[in-house]
Amino acid sequence: MEAQIGLAEIIFGTLGLGMFYIVLKRLELVWRHRKCVEDEVMNEYREGRLKEGQPDYEHLIAHLGNCEKCRDKMTQF
Ligand SMILES: [Zn+2]
Repeated sequence: MEAQIGLAEIIFGTLGLGMFYIVLKRLELVWRHRKCVEDEVMNEYREGRLKEGQPDYEHLIAHLGNCEKCRDKMTQF
């Protein structure tokens, strides 16, 4: 009986940790996409040095979708 309770606690504890980790990752992603794109990254993109799949590329695309300031900046050059 005690062993079963122990096991359940471990399982739920693990699930809880997993959920916490997923939420944390989500928040980190949202937070990173919130941050404005650096000029250097924009330059890399314009020069074709930024490749699809790179974190900076993903950030740029995701960020441009919801930041007017950076969209304007990208079209200014
Ligand atoms: Zn921005």
